[in-house]
Amino acid sequence: MTPTYSTDIVIFGGGIAGLWLLNRLRNQGFDAILFESNQIGSGQTIASQGIIHGGLKYALNGALTGATEAIADMPSRWRNCLAGSGDVDLQGTAILSNHYYLWSAAGLRSKLKTFLGSKSLRGKVNPLQNKEFSSLFRNSTVQGNLYELPDFVINTDSLLQVLARNQFDHLFKYEKDAIEFNRNQLGDIESVSIISNLPNSTSSEIQIEAQQFIFCAGGGNEKLISQANLKTPNTQRRPLKMVWIRNNDLPPAYVHCIGDSFSLTPRLTVTTHYNDENDVVWYLGGELAEKGVERSNEEQIQAAKNQTAESFPWVDFSNASWNCISIDRCEAKIENRFRPDDTCLIAEDNAIAVWPTKLTLTPSLADKIVEHLANNSIAARPTNDNSTLRQYFGEPKIAVPYWN
Ligand SMILES: Cc1cc2nc3c(=O)[nH]c(=O)nc-3n(C[C@H](O)[C@H](O)[C@H](O)COP(=O)(O)OP(=O)(O)OC[C@H]3O[C@@H](n4cnc5c(N)ncnc54)[C@H](O)[C@@H]3O)c2cc1C
Repeated sequence: MTPTYSTDIVIFGGGIAGLWLLNRLRNQGFDAILFESNQIGSGQTIASQGIIHGGLKYALNGALTGATEAIADMPSRWRNCLAGSGDVDLQGTAILSNHYYLWSAAGLRSKLKTFLGSKSLRGKVNPLQNKEFSSLFRNSTVQGNLYELPDFVINTDSLLQVLARNQFDHLFKYEKDAIEFNRNQLGDIESVSIISNLPNSTSSEIQIEAQQFIFCAGGGNEKLISQANLKTPNTQRRPLKMVWIRNNDLPPAYVHCIGDSFSLTPRLTVTTHYNDENDVVWYLGGELAEKGVERSNEEQIQAAKNQTAESFPWVDFSNASWNCISIDRCEAKIENRFRPDDTCLIAEDNAIAVWPTKLTLTPSLADKIVEHLANNSIAARPTNDNSTLRQYFGEPKIAVPYWN
């Protein structure tokens, strides 16, 4: 007979959404466990630039709507967690930069001036004098305007390590094709049968019963939704072709470069990272990455060379090595909208499919899930000893950044 294990919540997917939720639910006394089919964070989270946005980016894109409101409180939520006084303990997560900047080399164009002076942004964006410029812009050979934003940048690699380390006993690796959802007569998911991935386990399969099943698998949610036979959640992918440059002479850069387009969309969104050997890596997103999906890798690298030379003519890239990464942003499909503004939670029977939409918005997504559980009278029960499950499933590894 197949052995049975019973828990409160089963989470699938160990990116930022799943890991944050696991930490939050266990802190609240829930017996929650997480199944990862690959490496922890191996989807979008490890590929992310790690910018904790205060909302300006969306405003620049012309979407001064739900997104800016939803995101405005997030930097302070994250800072509390980083200090150990939030709902999830992020102490030990490395911060790459305490500030993020906006650079406009095209002079103070009237649209930008009106926008930055708008009431909604007053006090949030700080224009800097030349003497306050960071090392990158202090050597600038072009006239431009630099603004300090309330955003900051975290090292997503260390974020994953911290969130996983706090819950390692409750993280399990499995094969994504090795599961079957079992429904009861009411149509709810009663349990999930998962085939063991350890050769010497006592049984080849275990049946896990839970009150709620939560899909936090980013691009993997599509498969889980189909395996669980859910009807309502629809998904979408928006591809990016990111570029990274390695060169030890590069100064740290954490900046949106505003181009000439009417929308004020950042042409380049730059963050700086360090590889295993402490080499400096500039990671480039923004319009370059969105438009780059139509280019070959060679064309994209050439476009990146042109745009960095244009935006930073005083920086020497001659010894740099250039690389591309293709990666999808995976979200819920929202009717009539190209990009969802906010986090998304779609509940059906006793399963929920969720997407944070942005790393930044994860605390808000966890709030919504906790509220959903409370509204559906799902309460914590006495916790189990998860060592039983360890006989069936090994520990997932943690993803490493592309430049390592
Ligand atoms: C290039 C890029 C840059 C970004 N930069 C930023 C930024 O600077 N700031 C910001 O706020 N947001 C940013 N984002 C968005 C942010 O990274 C994502 O919204 C967020 O990481 C999504 O997290 P997630 O946990 O939902 O998904 P993911 O990080 O994709 O994690 C999903 C996890 O589920 C696992 N999985 C897949 N299938 C299954 C399965 N069947 N069963 C179990 N596990 C499974 C995967 O292996 C993975 O570990 C960026 C996104 C991209 C692509």
